[in-house]
Amino acid sequence: MIPIVDKELCSGCGNCVEVCPPQAISLKDDKACIEQDYCEECGFCVAECPLDALEIRFPLSTDKA
Ligand code: SF4
Ligand code: SF4
Repeated sequence: MIPIVDKELCSGCGNCVEVCPPQAISLKDDKACIEQDYCEECGFCVAECPLDALEIRFPLSTDKA
């Protein structure tokens, strides 16, 4: 899953930008912005965010119809 940025929480500290291996994150208006085409879904950015502004949302249900 590609992380989602909570722009209300993001302080623009840049930690996630530095740890992203494919450099998929940039800061736009001091908010993290993930280029989804480049994201390798490693989760490093989520682990490094001090404000929990990055979140991976797993599907709520795996039920199959
Ligand atoms: S999950 Fe990995 S590849 Fe994707 S934006 Fe975060 S650090 Fe970069
Ligand atoms: S590490 Fe968190 S607070 Fe810092 S720029 Fe990235 S998303 Fe924003």
